Amino acid sequence: MNTIQIEDKTFEILLENDNISKRTRLIGIQINVDYENRCPIFIGVLNGSFLFMADLLREIEIPCEIGFIQVSSYTGAESSGKIRETFGLPKNLHNRDVIIVEDIVDTGYTLNYVVGEVIKQAPASISVCTLLFKPAALKKPIEELEYVGFEIENEFVVGYGLDYNGLGRNLKDIYREKTVATPLP
Ligand code: 5GP
Repeated sequence: MNTIQIEDKTFEILLENDNISKRTRLIGIQINVDYENRCPIFIGVLNGSFLFMADLLREIEIPCEIGFIQVSSYTGAESSGKIRETFGLPKNLHNRDVIIVEDIVDTGYTLNYVVGEVIKQAPASISVCTLLFKPAALKKPIEELEYVGFEIENEFVVGYGLDYNGLGRNLKDIYREKTVATPLP
């Protein structure tokens, strides 16, 4: 199926599962080499990373630990803008090699916040692995961005963990929003 409808939006295929699997395998091999003789702790950022995290970890052959965090954002009562809270960040990251696993890096604000929270625990090292990266949307540079599955255009995507209004996370492939072509004048 090449296009799908979720509520008011039509999506077309961007990355097939087979392609995602192959890329994930290569990232896994790279991490196995980079972290040889170490025991990193992978931290998946929920909800979007759950499928990527599961598939990536199946490629990891070195000893490792796994945790998840969830980040929520809401507008505070004061005019301080967005406030973020993390839930479930493991407390034992001191002197550990931490690998944060994300579904997508868009503006980079979420990841910047998560990296800041991890750094507070003084880990031995910290790197970020994201399946998707939208370089044109990035507002906060992320030095720790070490492993990137695919760089994509600045467009809205769903599937393989990513949702539209809570829907579509279960799709095997990744789809992008189909834009309606504007007729020439
Ligand atoms: P940020 O802008 O902070 O880098 O991205 C924050 C979050 O927005 C991501 O973790 C993801 O949940 C969501 N997000 C960003 N771009 C997209 C997109 O194209 N599709 C979907 N479904 N979620 C996105």
